[in-house]
Amino acid sequence: MINFELDAQGIATLSWDMPGRSQNVINGESCAALFAAIERAVSDPAVKGILMTSAKADFIAGGDLEWLQSADAAPELYARTTALHKALRHLETCGKPVAMALPGTTLGGGLEVALCGHYRVAADKPSARFGLPEVTLGLLPGGGGTQRLPRLIGVQNALPLLLEGKRLKAADALKLGILNAVVAAGTEVQAARDWLLAQTGPVQQPWDTKGYKIPGGAISSPAVQQLIMAANAMLRAKTYGNYPAPEHILSCVYEGLITDLDTGLKTEARYFVHAVLSPQAKNMIRSLFFGMNEANKLAARPAGVDKQRYSRVGILGAGMMGAGIAYVTAKAGITAVLLDTSLEAAERGKDYSRKLLEKQAARGQITPEKAAALLERIVPTTDYAALDGAEMVIEAVFEDRTIKADVTRKSEAVLAPDAIFASNTSTLPITGLAEASARPANFIGLHFFSPVDKMPLVEVIMGKGTSDATLARSLDYIAAVGMTPIVVNDARGFYTSRVFSTYVMEGLQMLKEGVRPALIENAGLQAGMPVGPLALTDEVSAELLVKIEKQTAADLGDAYRPRPGLEVAQRIVALGRIGKKAGQGFYEYPEGGKKSLWQGLAELFPPAAEQPDVDVLVQRLIAVQAVETVRCMEEGVLTTARDVDIGAILGWGFPPFRGGTIGHIHSTGIAAFIGQCEALAQQFGERFQPPALLKTMVEEGRTFYSR
Ligand code: NAD
Repeated sequence: MINFELDAQGIATLSWDMPGRSQNVINGESCAALFAAIERAVSDPAVKGILMTSAKADFIAGGDLEWLQSADAAPELYARTTALHKALRHLETCGKPVAMALPGTTLGGGLEVALCGHYRVAADKPSARFGLPEVTLGLLPGGGGTQRLPRLIGVQNALPLLLEGKRLKAADALKLGILNAVVAAGTEVQAARDWLLAQTGPVQQPWDTKGYKIPGGAISSPAVQQLIMAANAMLRAKTYGNYPAPEHILSCVYEGLITDLDTGLKTEARYFVHAVLSPQAKNMIRSLFFGMNEANKLAARPAGVDKQRYSRVGILGAGMMGAGIAYVTAKAGITAVLLDTSLEAAERGKDYSRKLLEKQAARGQITPEKAAALLERIVPTTDYAALDGAEMVIEAVFEDRTIKADVTRKSEAVLAPDAIFASNTSTLPITGLAEASARPANFIGLHFFSPVDKMPLVEVIMGKGTSDATLARSLDYIAAVGMTPIVVNDARGFYTSRVFSTYVMEGLQMLKEGVRPALIENAGLQAGMPVGPLALTDEVSAELLVKIEKQTAADLGDAYRPRPGLEVAQRIVALGRIGKKAGQGFYEYPEGGKKSLWQGLAELFPPAAEQPDVDVLVQRLIAVQAVETVRCMEEGVLTTARDVDIGAILGWGFPPFRGGTIGHIHSTGIAAFIGQCEALAQQFGERFQPPALLKTMVEEGRTFYSR
């Protein structure tokens, strides 16, 4: 676990090497080994200096989240946390010099251990990252990070690292003083030894020396007071109080730095326990860490299908979506044949990548050679013969059944019999589109999100005839381009578009009821959504909502029921205020200026004399999405809660602290959620009626997640 070696010069090397894992993590076993190794090194008089390092490519990746989540009781967690604090404190105050040789990435608990060394030297490795990213999972550093980092580099420098969880490259960590040296990879242990051997007397941490002052000013100094106040205000404005972890971090820094380190560590331990046990952290860890890891490891991939390697992929339509798909494909080292009706259009699609690469090159993120090679792999064409040899074709032509059918036939005439044909349609059911295909088993939906180079989600849609092999091989493509898949079954609007639209429609319905527009928008933000429903309607365009609704009405015939909110969309479209792209919608978009709500809304939708409580609006905006998700599950569109929640968070920005639409029901409690929905249904309509699935789950004592 932690190898202990004492050499002739009195240097004890403690090398982390957790068996059966590719990375070292902080958990019960490694802590026990760490405590024993520290005790031995400190108490053995033959040990003159202590060198801690790792036998793996990285130092320590951070805390073991399984271990962290296994504790449900505050006293146990507090005891674990303070035991680690005590051992690390013992190490840094023992008087013997302690050096940390960091061969690679050193994050979270790993960096906290490293901060207990009197000297930190890292290998110069481009992939290595240093930081305290706990906040991104609703946690805070619990190994002394909130106390040692600001004492080392000052409050001003530490706050962005603690509050945003930034991961630094070695050079930047060196500049900030988190590292003492960066040396050629493979020489870091020697550099640490050299430093240890050069020490002649007892060594102390800066914060343990007499007359120590926090760099950049003490907490009580006016400059730092102002900084903390500003950070508090910014946090509130950004999170609406939905994320307790960053608030706890600020409290740790503020309360902890007024006192000595030992008292500060106790403060940190208390806030840490609070954060670990919070529903927000549990939700974020479940979806953003465990769920995402499973999805990225292709948990949904049917077994027994050989891994498909991709060398050539055809992309039909070089518009907004096709251009983005070509970029991510070429970036993954795959030739992207980009086909459109004219060569100019195809070239324009390639220009999208050119512009992205120019920006990256200007920022030093890519070398000119790599950028040129990537561009070379995008082959613009109008000729279907260029698709010959492609393992897959993804169509992103106009959203029109006839055109999609035409390009399907033309492609299949050229493609090998086992090649996959994927459609990036946003609304048209896959089974219907597959009717144009001579091989429906090879036909699948791959729904990308815009902009493709920034949005990592792909919603994979299984048509009725889609084979498991096609699913498996399509997932291999998604893994190859480094994106995250969720798998859903075919239905109108699939999953993401269908549930996302309930959010905007609910907002529009509120407007019809006489709720003030600003209150609706604020309720959306307070709910944790990235954008208010009216602004979001403008982004996607009310015209598109009306168009989709019209298509749905035509397809469903007598079964069609107009959705709440539709009338509002129709009225705003009738005025020509179709959305952001037209420069006017629910908002005004002055050129070069900030958007503001359109004053005319008050006349069109007169506000009611009495305005509802914002909490009720928040509840409606969230519940409407969660209820629709359960309906998708009931209809078999969705099968795993994991995919549901990842899709919600990555697809349309459903608040991560709620864990996703199902995560929200899970952490509310199914029975409590049913109660909420029944009350909402009574007041606002049938759409809130809790689906039978939920009631059955309560009766049978089932839950969506085990934890
Ligand atoms: P777009 O209008 O920007 O691009 C469509 C491209 O297809 C155009 O360049 C057009 O010249 C080309 N095209 C049309 N007919 C063709 C044909 N017969 N052969 C070859 N090329 C042809 O559209 P877009 O926004 O990129 O959307 C493309 C598809 O992706 C649509 O099905 C859309 O519903 C879907 N989609 C769009 C988004 C989005 O946010 N825009 C998101 C997910 C899915």
